[in-house]
Amino acid sequence: MLSRLISGILGILCITIGSVSAQVSDIEKKMTSYIDDTNTRALELLIKTVNMNSGTMNFEGVREVGDILGSEFEKLGFSYEWSDGSSFNRAGHLVATYRGKNAKKKLLLIGHLDTVFEPDSPFQKFEMVNDSVAKGPGIADMKGGNVIMLQALGALKEAGVLDDLDITVVMTGDEELSGRPLELSKKALIDAAKYADISLGFENGDGNPETANISRRGSVGWTLTVKGVRAHSSQVFREDIGAGAIYEASRILTTFYNELRDEEYLTFNPGKIIGGTAITHDPGSSSGTAFGKNNVVAESALVTGDIRAISQEQLERVKKRMTAIVNDHLPQTQAEIEFGDGYPPMAPTAGNEKLLEIYSKVSEDLGLGEVVAVNPLRAGAADVSFTAQYVDMAIDALGMSGTDGHTIGELGYLKALPNQAKRAAVLMYRLSQMNN
Ligand SMILES: [Zn+2]
Repeated sequence: MLSRLISGILGILCITIGSVSAQVSDIEKKMTSYIDDTNTRALELLIKTVNMNSGTMNFEGVREVGDILGSEFEKLGFSYEWSDGSSFNRAGHLVATYRGKNAKKKLLLIGHLDTVFEPDSPFQKFEMVNDSVAKGPGIADMKGGNVIMLQALGALKEAGVLDDLDITVVMTGDEELSGRPLELSKKALIDAAKYADISLGFENGDGNPETANISRRGSVGWTLTVKGVRAHSSQVFREDIGAGAIYEASRILTTFYNELRDEEYLTFNPGKIIGGTAITHDPGSSSGTAFGKNNVVAESALVTGDIRAISQEQLERVKKRMTAIVNDHLPQTQAEIEFGDGYPPMAPTAGNEKLLEIYSKVSEDLGLGEVVAVNPLRAGAADVSFTAQYVDMAIDALGMSGTDGHTIGELGYLKALPNQAKRAAVLMYRLSQMNN
């Protein structure tokens, strides 16, 4: 009681002095000093892992990066195991756990080991661009985020507060090109989310340290298959011949466009159309062929596309409306739409908003400025999306800021390494001290 009173008075004194650090407790200062003191080592680990190729389909490389990071988790007192990926044709995932003795909160920390750069890519090595920017395959997406996560956990350990948290880390080996079926490739992640209270993603977000993701649109694919009656073109529209498959396909697409395009945060895009008398379609290579003559009413048409939605509710509602539009056939045609599996949306819940508020306060207290939500129209699906529906709060983009991800010009901002690690460490600490 007395000590609380004294620290309260000290707190007020410090605030009146007006220093930024007034808002940062001694434990938190210990964490930020640790991060500054060990930044060189963190950078070395980043360089080492960026220089190891871990394109999604390079299973050995993904596993090697996993083992390097796994041993780093072991040094912090975590136990780690490799969750095998052969059932979904990928390398697998790193799962590390720390069950703190005094934990009130269960956190899930999400990273990924793979990159879009396979061994045949010309982009393989870390390279300094200037003293604050470096270039490298997966530097921001997301080997930087993995190192930031380790740095933040190291800081919690150094400050003696790691035992206040129950932590599960899942670093997937196939974020960039998910193994199928998704129910197997995302199982480790979903199991960990069901166990956790809060999910923290260390992706690079939109590359700007002033923003984080509290919602991401999900995406699912669809295939529209249309049939008409083959006949001479001079007989099109006759009662028993009808409109043909191509008219029916275009009616459906135009109605989607007219009736659904005003939905907020929704997009739907037909990416491919094939139509004629005889068609072939190979979904594996996203290609097909068509044969048709101008004087023949089209017998077949096929369209494939995607839908991106902000919430499961929106997705289900839109699927129903699309299905109803499809079923309203033109004369003598049939059509069917099938929806594939995909990435679920991460809805902007009140819990996620609260978590962003806490994170933004942490950042301001550290003198690193406010953090606001990324416009979900600019945020694609990510691994955190699979976890969001099972936890009370979720946020993503705690990782390394940078630009030009997925291109051979990918850059990472090296200042983000200590800054983001400090934010993450203080965030996790404050979450550990919350009562509900
Ligand atoms: Zn990524």
